[in-house]
Amino acid sequence: MVHVHQGERLGLDDLDGLYSRSGVVLTPEGIVLEINEVPPLAEAQLRREEVIGYPLAETWWWSFYPVSQAQLRTAIKRTSRGETVRFETVIHPREGLDRHLDVVVTPRRDADHHVAYLVITGIDITERKRAEAEIHALIDAIPQLVWTTQPDGFHDLFNQRWHDYTGQSTAEAQGEGWMQCLHPEDQPRVCYAWQRAVQTGGVYETEVRLRQGTTGEYRWFLARALPVRDDTGQIFKWFGTSTDIEEQKRTEQQLKESRESLSVLAETVPQLVWTTSPDGCVEYWNQRRYDYSGSSPAQALGHRWSQFLHPDDAQRTLKIWHQALAMGEPYEIEYRLKEGQTGAYRWFLTHGVPVRDEGGQIVKWFGTGTDIEEQKRTEEALRQSQEHANTLMNSNIIGIIITEGEQIVDANDTFLHMTGSTREDLRAGQMNVMPMTAPEYLARTVEAHQKLDTQQSITPYEKEYICQDGSRLPVLVGGVLFQHHPCQVINFVLDNSARKELEQRKDDFISIASHELKTPLTAVKMQTQLVRKRFEKHAQREAATALSRVERSIKQLERLIAELLDVSKIQAGGLEYVRERVDLDELLREVTATIHHLHPSHTTQVRGSVQTSLIGDRDRLGQVFTNLLSNAIKYSPDVRTVEMDLSASDDAVTIRVHDHGLGIPRELRDKIFERFYRVTDSKQKAIPGLGMGLYIVAEIVNHHGGTITVDSAVGKGSTFTVTLPLMRDA
Ligand code: ADP
Repeated sequence: MVHVHQGERLGLDDLDGLYSRSGVVLTPEGIVLEINEVPPLAEAQLRREEVIGYPLAETWWWSFYPVSQAQLRTAIKRTSRGETVRFETVIHPREGLDRHLDVVVTPRRDADHHVAYLVITGIDITERKRAEAEIHALIDAIPQLVWTTQPDGFHDLFNQRWHDYTGQSTAEAQGEGWMQCLHPEDQPRVCYAWQRAVQTGGVYETEVRLRQGTTGEYRWFLARALPVRDDTGQIFKWFGTSTDIEEQKRTEQQLKESRESLSVLAETVPQLVWTTSPDGCVEYWNQRRYDYSGSSPAQALGHRWSQFLHPDDAQRTLKIWHQALAMGEPYEIEYRLKEGQTGAYRWFLTHGVPVRDEGGQIVKWFGTGTDIEEQKRTEEALRQSQEHANTLMNSNIIGIIITEGEQIVDANDTFLHMTGSTREDLRAGQMNVMPMTAPEYLARTVEAHQKLDTQQSITPYEKEYICQDGSRLPVLVGGVLFQHHPCQVINFVLDNSARKELEQRKDDFISIASHELKTPLTAVKMQTQLVRKRFEKHAQREAATALSRVERSIKQLERLIAELLDVSKIQAGGLEYVRERVDLDELLREVTATIHHLHPSHTTQVRGSVQTSLIGDRDRLGQVFTNLLSNAIKYSPDVRTVEMDLSASDDAVTIRVHDHGLGIPRELRDKIFERFYRVTDSKQKAIPGLGMGLYIVAEIVNHHGGTITVDSAVGKGSTFTVTLPLMRDA
């Protein structure tokens, strides 16, 4: 047992008079020499006597937590060597009760300066610890990173969230350690801001990127710290938070980017773009809008935009617009806007849409205007041309049909009326070009349709339709391809019956006239012959000569009437032919003799011979060559000779009639074979004729299975070539 003076014991309270609540005196080995009655002894319900003389570290309350026991043992060891040791610990006075103590172990020395005994004082800091734990819990619960720092930069505390985020321990973060968490680019700025705050004692606030310990990724934080001052106004601590603003930053950035791209877009699009406030006050115009109207923001913004509207459109536009604003509905308006530079108006198609916030409130209107002037013009042109087309379609002059192949897919009323068809027939798909075409025109119709592939159109041709009532309708038909897929053709159909009737009347007239003329002429001819012969008998030569001149004129008249009769016969169905063997050389000799007799001033040079005969109508064939030679002489007023070349092959003979006369323009080479066609050139016109000869010639050659062609140069002469087959089907 170690003896302890009463005075010593009393001195325990003085050790730390202010807050010492419990005190123990120990031997340097840690055996209790003295202990006061305050807790934990009291709380452990022990008396002093039960503890004195025992190692303090073995007491119930010290040994309960091995860590506390070890702390005490270490402290005793160090104090016994002369140190003063202070530590915080937890003891366990009894079941269910823990006490936090701030313990100081002090050595006491004897006269020889040896450590004689140890004094332990303990302050109960349980309440403080609890309060601190609560604050820590509270601080840990804060969804920010929290830290407290002393003015010298010593960090008292980082909340759990801080550790979790940065991955740093408190020790690692001390000094400059926490700076490691900063983004290198932010370090100088943060340092400066912090130093300034410390110097001025003002609020520290800065945005900083902090590294996440585990992923190494940086996130933006708003760091804020406020100084806490003591009674004297001295700063003793900074209380700081760092709030994660990454999302906010990102949203801000996105917003900024989208705003930027929106404005870039608004400036790039080829439209006029503007925004207005919810009540329609213009806040923004893109450059194009300013350029177009040639005005300044002062002239344009606010409610002044309507001044640019065309007066005729203003009322309608403003009405629609106000309605849209009131209803909060998107709008679409077409109106004309004045172009600043020229003062001209152009059509625009305007769209406006309300922009709403999350709560559905309209925050602004967004509008675009697209120049549709061209479109409007095209539309107008289209409308007009459609109107024209409709006028044509609806006129009762021209029948119009649209065909796909042979099928009539559409027709105007005129056509339906012409053919006695109904719209129902059309709808039922019952109208087909071929069954409606008269049989003799089928080949011509097929040919016209085939030509479509190459020439994209149908050259107008005459034909006859068979109407619903079985009657025939003469028409003139032409068309153009106007859609390739499916291949559609728009055809016009002109009622040709009036012309045809007129033609018929003319033919009838010619036929009747030629018949009617023939009989009296024959009588006149015979009478003249008779009288002439009588005069000759009575040697009245003068009178006889005069009458033979009359007879020549009668012959001419006879030929003319015969030709007229031939033409009307061809029209009515054809000439009558006889079949006989014809010696061509002989026939041609006869013909040239007749020609010579008729035109004694001209010579006909015959070159070659055919030396063959064929089956045909001698008179008609004679008519062919007489006609060709007469023409050759007639249309060569200044030349005295015409030539005739004869040749033959095994199966055909070729007769060429060649002159050096006026010639025929190239484009008329086919026309001269048409009925009553005459070249209208003044020189040719001066030569009398009715345009029937070649028509009859072609018909006769055709009947004999031959061909007739013409080769000619204007002013140089013409060559008519007739080829007749020797063996031909009768
Ligand atoms: P026409 O009675 O007018 O001669 P044709 O039918 O014989 O009638 O000839 C038709 C037209 O062809 C003539 O009007 C004339 O213009 C032209 N023609 C015919 N033969 C010749 C020719 N040899 N040289 C020049 N033109 C000719």
